[in-house]
Amino acid sequence: MKIIKGRNISQGIAIGNVHWHRSNVLVIPDEQVSDQAQIEKEMENLQSAIDNCISELEQTRKLVVRHLDEEHAQIIDSQLMILKDPYLKKEVKELIEEEKFNVIKAFNIVIANYEERLSGSQSDYHRQRDLDIKDIRKRIVHYLIKREDYINKQIQEPSILVSESVSPSDLFTLDPENVMGIITHDGGADSHLAIMAKAFKLPYLSGVEDLERIDEDEEIILDAYKGKIIKNPVSKTKQLYLDKLRKYELERNKKIELIEQTKDGTPFGIYINVEFINELDALDRDSYSGIGLFRTEFLGLERNAFPSEQEQVEVYSEVLDKIGDKPIVFRTFDFGRDKFIDMLDMEMFHVDSSYQDWGGIKLCLENPEILKTQFRALLKVSSQRDLHIMLPMISNLDEVEAAKELFQEAQQELDKKNINYSEVKLGAMVETKEILENLDELASSVEFFSIGTNDLAHFILGTSRDSDSVTHHYHPFMFKAISGIVEAGQRNQIPVTLCGEMGADPYALIGLAAVGIRNISVNTSSLASITREVKNIDLKKMENLDSLIYSCDDPETVQSILIEYYEQYIGKNE
Ligand code: PEP
Ligand code: MG
Repeated sequence: MKIIKGRNISQGIAIGNVHWHRSNVLVIPDEQVSDQAQIEKEMENLQSAIDNCISELEQTRKLVVRHLDEEHAQIIDSQLMILKDPYLKKEVKELIEEEKFNVIKAFNIVIANYEERLSGSQSDYHRQRDLDIKDIRKRIVHYLIKREDYINKQIQEPSILVSESVSPSDLFTLDPENVMGIITHDGGADSHLAIMAKAFKLPYLSGVEDLERIDEDEEIILDAYKGKIIKNPVSKTKQLYLDKLRKYELERNKKIELIEQTKDGTPFGIYINVEFINELDALDRDSYSGIGLFRTEFLGLERNAFPSEQEQVEVYSEVLDKIGDKPIVFRTFDFGRDKFIDMLDMEMFHVDSSYQDWGGIKLCLENPEILKTQFRALLKVSSQRDLHIMLPMISNLDEVEAAKELFQEAQQELDKKNINYSEVKLGAMVETKEILENLDELASSVEFFSIGTNDLAHFILGTSRDSDSVTHHYHPFMFKAISGIVEAGQRNQIPVTLCGEMGADPYALIGLAAVGIRNISVNTSSLASITREVKNIDLKKMENLDSLIYSCDDPETVQSILIEYYEQYIGKNE
């Protein structure tokens, strides 16, 4: 029995066999085709994969021209040229006919020849195109592989996923239903994969140094409470963990009591963050006050494309049906940076730093139709509902004004068609450094604030969402900034909620309550434990805690103070 250590990202336990995921290695099936009908079918699949890729790249090209310049867009042109080249299809077809290869294998061989020709070239230009061809290969194979029979080849039965790093789109391709837990080397507590793992209630351990010690197919225990992986467990240990697993499952299925105040009677709202509708099925709707953050961009991630207006109307109505008359905050698409990059997953986005600050509200304002369509869809489902719309990554007031103009245009378009809608409250996420200078002006132009600590930490402290541990949750600068946002909300009489992962951190929550947070929105996996904690928070016992936090020089000292408070007033944490 050997133990490997890691960092808990999403709590839980899994016992199962390992599936190694090497994201750069494409799984190419070996099946042969046997008759003409099958050959035709394979070519149809190729055509539809090429069509999908072309439209995806054309969409991306438009975004690149708007955001960057024509020069960057030309990289996409050369990819489009290859995809539209009739010889590509001709060569694939010949291989299928002659060798009876399936289309994935045939395409892979043909495109590998293109790559080889370019990598042998003397010119820098041609060698760089090698990267673009790799991108095409990945995209086309990805589309072809999406067919059910090939997906099943990747993960055949529920397994624990082990990989250097996993992107949200990797998880979709592999099918989260078949993943029992995740173990990676890279990946931070506030990363989008962490958010997805919590949404799917998957135990997730990151920061594992010696991944290669874990073998394909071996049985392991993943303990993402204690931050460890147990290799070759002896039967006594396995039994112990099976008992624990049952206990945690019983605990997880326990009814969560709706709590709306702290122990001393101070009103305190607990809302949930939602990425996928099914998350709502596992929760009793009487156990939370409402949805404080619905991350709509995950609809795009699931589809690998922007959802249409009608698709959005259907999804939003379904969400509203599931939550009854509870309030809900839909955040407009927060594509960009890593989420957008994950969704489109283009090689050039990974290697070109010009894309780093791309996204948020900027991306939608540069592509107004995307935002206006979303506003129309949200307005269409708003009748008689307590519906709020929130704008992400706001860094100045012009962005709010521009978004409001589009919102009014969306309203006018519905008026013309006599489509009913209700009054909707517009709010802003406070999560960039620039906006901290303009909180009063921002408060006077929106109706609520929501603090996004995941991005705020990145902008204030320079931490990376994808690689840092949770220490930034205890940084005195974070608490100072949050208290400033709460005060601006109070001065301008608008409500303030906090929806970053910091709110679901049991120790950080003590500090947040001390600096004035009275509404939080947390991931659905943390709802039960956070609700229990809020019920036991006694604000009378924390009167000087805020000044104590501000007087500290480093997050480690704040963390030990918060742990002490937690253990004294709330109880021992697992
Ligand atoms: C945040 O930044 O804290 C937040 C809630 O938004 P997201 O994690 O989706 O960027
Ligand atoms: Mg954010």
